[in-house]
Amino acid sequence: MQDLKKLLAQAESDSDYREILWRLRWSSGFHCPRCDHDRAYHLPRRELYECKLCGLQSSATSGTFLHGVRNLRGWVEAILSLFEIDGRTAVSMAIRLDRGYATAWFMMHKIRLVLYEALVRGEGDLEISCDLLKTALFKASSETMYVSPEETPSDLRSHEVAQLVPELVAFLVGIYKGVSRKYAQLYITEFSFRRQTCRFDPLNLLSCFVRGRALSRAKLRAYSAPYIMRLSGST
Ligand SMILES: [Zn+2]
Repeated sequence: MQDLKKLLAQAESDSDYREILWRLRWSSGFHCPRCDHDRAYHLPRRELYECKLCGLQSSATSGTFLHGVRNLRGWVEAILSLFEIDGRTAVSMAIRLDRGYATAWFMMHKIRLVLYEALVRGEGDLEISCDLLKTALFKASSETMYVSPEETPSDLRSHEVAQLVPELVAFLVGIYKGVSRKYAQLYITEFSFRRQTCRFDPLNLLSCFVRGRALSRAKLRAYSAPYIMRLSGST
């Protein structure tokens, strides 16, 4: 792990980052995603590995959240920006990576969605009703919201929720000037992560991105935050 840290500190090219992600994905050696065989041919020119048993060709990112992304360096930089003091808006990310606004927007939201899947477990999470965040939410979408007014959060830990809401609202308004109701849960997950960055190191965070499956823009467009949102790891 120590030399991987060093590699990350010195990484410059997409190829360096691919090497790091490969080693995070297969930290205990290559295993074919299809048949689990542990021997493969390395095809260096295409940066692929071909399973010696079933012939499936895989890369560091194939079939993971980062499937098919170009500009690995930009992605890693965007993911690691979560450790920075201030949040990264899509605008500032677009400027930093010299990309269009839409690309940066999808990028940051995909990152938050992966965080959500990695962080939010259900048990032990704090439940926050949308109503409590009204001042920080705007309706940026005309799509039908997933709203169930009858649903109420369990009030067992309401004192913790009451303590956290002002901090959360300050984050949503201070950095993002308010966020859309539709994607509020993703921003709340970012807030959760930022409150507990001490539990993660950069490699630990990156390893969350070489699991799972490809994340399409369509999936993000279809996403809608629930009425009761979750804040993880509050204790
Ligand atoms: Zn195989």
